[in-house]
Amino acid sequence: MIIIMEKTATAENIQGVINILKEHGFRAILHEGAVHTVIDALGDKTTLSPDRLEAMEGVSQVKLIRQPYRMASRDRKPEDTVIEFENGVKVGGNNRPVFMVGPCSVEDDYEGLLNVAIAAKEMGCQFLRGGAFKPRTSPYDFDGLGEKALQYLAKAKEETGLLVVTELMDATDLDLVCKYADLIQIGARNMQNFRLLKAVGKCNKPIILKRGPAATIQEFLLAAEHIMYNGNERVILCERGVKGFDSSFTRNVLDISAIPVIKKYSHLPIIVDPSHGTGQRYLIEPMAKAGLVAGADGVMVEVHNNPAKALSDGKQSLSIPQFKEVFSKLNSLIDILHLENSNSPVNVE
Ligand code: PEP
Ligand code: MN
Repeated sequence: MIIIMEKTATAENIQGVINILKEHGFRAILHEGAVHTVIDALGDKTTLSPDRLEAMEGVSQVKLIRQPYRMASRDRKPEDTVIEFENGVKVGGNNRPVFMVGPCSVEDDYEGLLNVAIAAKEMGCQFLRGGAFKPRTSPYDFDGLGEKALQYLAKAKEETGLLVVTELMDATDLDLVCKYADLIQIGARNMQNFRLLKAVGKCNKPIILKRGPAATIQEFLLAAEHIMYNGNERVILCERGVKGFDSSFTRNVLDISAIPVIKKYSHLPIIVDPSHGTGQRYLIEPMAKAGLVAGADGVMVEVHNNPAKALSDGKQSLSIPQFKEVFSKLNSLIDILHLENSNSPVNVE
């Protein structure tokens, strides 16, 4: 339930509502808006009737949240969530879609990473992505450089001003990753690692949560709910494809329809990842465009200095010249879509 207080509600009225909620085992989260105070009541609504709350002094309206994900739902928060970063970049709402690009894994080649970062900056991207801790299907594959990779990302950030996105696989690395990342990625394979979701729910960095390879949209939103319920409401969702029955042409099935569905039922920003969504470099441009047309708040793409030599996901990574070509087209599409322009691209060729 959410309890919307009257404009004129006093501090005692608000405390009265909180007290009764607590007596009935609810958790109450207070949002003091410019006009109304709103209280999120999280708990079992069969123990306390909305009518009883509605009758209390200072209460304007009690709204029931129909979805099992509550904090993430539009019922609770009709306006889009916008997540703002230290340098003024904003993700969500009417802001210009953002670009997150970089290699799948950060490799022991700082110059290669920097080349990608410089090109990304040139093309108006806002984020540099790269894995330091990599979830790999085979234990024999390269699984990341750990802190050295984080240091490379931080150095590239210093040189270009790009924000850093990197994956956290284990809560024991949380402090380390927080030290270097502006946005912490929870990868598809960990979407339902509930202890990890709880850990990042308690940290103060924004989170990008990727859809699990076989997760329904409801499970995806409930995973976001875990993060929010634990105290971190700055969650960006990422559609990166789900397992289909035919992997002969594409690695996954990129679920473009998930974007408008999530926009309808949730206020959280959602971006699209056509690299993991398709596994094919030639599909990045059309599927990124499809995602943007469907309303994505950003695009994540793998770009490598030398894809033929990449230690992971080389087949789906764009080279720097390919990236420049594709991203100038994406920027033109965004201009045509007449989206707002708070994250203006800089130096776009
Ligand atoms: C990645 O972003 O490199 C990655 C491993 O993504 P996903 O979790 O979507 O497979
Ligand atoms: Mn990858």
